Amino acid sequence: MTDTNQNHYDVLVIGGGPAGTTIASMLAQKGRDVCLFEKAHHPRFHIGESLLPMNLPILEKLGVLGRVDEIGIKKYAAEFNSLVSTPGQDTFYFAKAAKKNHPFAYEVRRSEFDEILFKNCQQKGVTALEGMIVIDSELHSSVKKLLVRDEYGNQHEFTGHYLIDASGRDTVLAQQLKSKHKNPQHRMAAIFGHFHDVERRNGRDEGNISIYWFQHGWVWMIPLKDSMMSVGCVCWPSYIKTRDTSLNEFFLQTLQLIPEISKRMENAHLEGNAQATGNYSYHSNIMSGEGFLLIGDAYAFVDPVFSSGVYLAMQSAARGADLVDQLLDNPQNRKKLIGQFESTIKKEIKAFCWFIYRFNSPAFHKLFMSSDEENQHPVKQKLKSAVISVLAGDTNNVQIKLPLMTFKLFYYINKLIEFKENRAFAIFRKQQNDRA
Ligand SMILES: Cc1cc2nc3c(=O)[nH]c(=O)nc-3n(C[C@H](O)[C@H](O)[C@H](O)COP(=O)(O)OP(=O)(O)OC[C@H]3O[C@@H](n4cnc5c(N)ncnc54)[C@H](O)[C@@H]3O)c2cc1C
Repeated sequence: MTDTNQNHYDVLVIGGGPAGTTIASMLAQKGRDVCLFEKAHHPRFHIGESLLPMNLPILEKLGVLGRVDEIGIKKYAAEFNSLVSTPGQDTFYFAKAAKKNHPFAYEVRRSEFDEILFKNCQQKGVTALEGMIVIDSELHSSVKKLLVRDEYGNQHEFTGHYLIDASGRDTVLAQQLKSKHKNPQHRMAAIFGHFHDVERRNGRDEGNISIYWFQHGWVWMIPLKDSMMSVGCVCWPSYIKTRDTSLNEFFLQTLQLIPEISKRMENAHLEGNAQATGNYSYHSNIMSGEGFLLIGDAYAFVDPVFSSGVYLAMQSAARGADLVDQLLDNPQNRKKLIGQFESTIKKEIKAFCWFIYRFNSPAFHKLFMSSDEENQHPVKQKLKSAVISVLAGDTNNVQIKLPLMTFKLFYYINKLIEFKENRAFAIFRKQQNDRA
């Protein structure tokens, strides 16, 4: 059993993924005494391998950018391919975002990435314990208590002035507070796995993520450094319900529906088994309370399509570290500081939601896929640059405010022009959400 000499800390953190390790490291850097509990042992598998350019400043601040560069492959762009409504291909290079100083991100194996973050927080002085599952918490007293079970079945009590829930999709506190809600607007399901021998793009484009829209949803291809390809399909519930074979077989059959994927995967074979997750979109009605905070997926997750999950988790952790550090010294400012924190986090998630909710609609495809780069009008180039900024995670940039509003306006105009097609899609989407 791993045990500590002391059981009282400034801050207790549930979960040793990107959100938990980031907030723990940053609070330790500020001189706080932090204890983090991770139920698994690193390295462990996790989905969510494609990072965003705006992750890089956070990785730099944590002092792990060099190590991530060693295990990751550079991703200069996101490539979108459509087989439905407006067929075609377009590549969105991050160098064309409004901010020019982060022209790439990384694709990483999460087992390696999360292990780097975990070891880093230990090196920064965090008492980070693996194989320790948080089974209960006491939120209503001024000192927070956690009941933690080790792998031998022994239970331990820990106390702290502040409690952070970074438990990801386990949503430990949201479950306890009964504040977790499925997203009624977005009910897709994902099937994913790692494949050997999938054809990659050439040269600098080798690390780009490829996205394919098809009749049942969309597919991602994320190239990993060790020549493996992470492949996943995100589908409508009605399609998933047609499955009458094994998950592996259904996954392979689905991928075969897209001719280019079928070609790129001619010689591919699946490593291990496919995995599936349904109804993954949710949020908690409560983000914070006296002496506790929910960050990353423990608060909300919307959709993998713009690879925003890890970025939002680490960004909320970085902001959360500043907040908790201030609150530990000045609890009387709580209301104001918490208010600012919550509204910033919600705004950042909302910036992605606008795109996520419309991603599969014909009006969105038409606008997204209509750029003939060379001959593009300067106004259209500005709009594309604003969209790329969002794809890079730079959602707060004031420079993109007006072009983004214009992009959205064009979207609504497109919706009106092709009213019938878009209305049919809206009805289909509502039916899918209702039946899931
Ligand atoms: C299908 C799919 C594809 C995705 N693709 C991408 C992508 O390409 N790019 C991207 O950025 N994001 C992607 N995401 C989202 C991404 O996986 C998450 O947003 C991200 O991992 C959130 O980080 P986190 O630290 O909040 O939670 P997690 O990474 O889930 O970490 C939480 C940690 O808490 C631990 N834990 C849980 N309960 C307890 C407990 N009771 N006690 C102790 N420890 C506990 C867990 O073991 C885990 O290690 C994807 C998500 C899905 C569903």
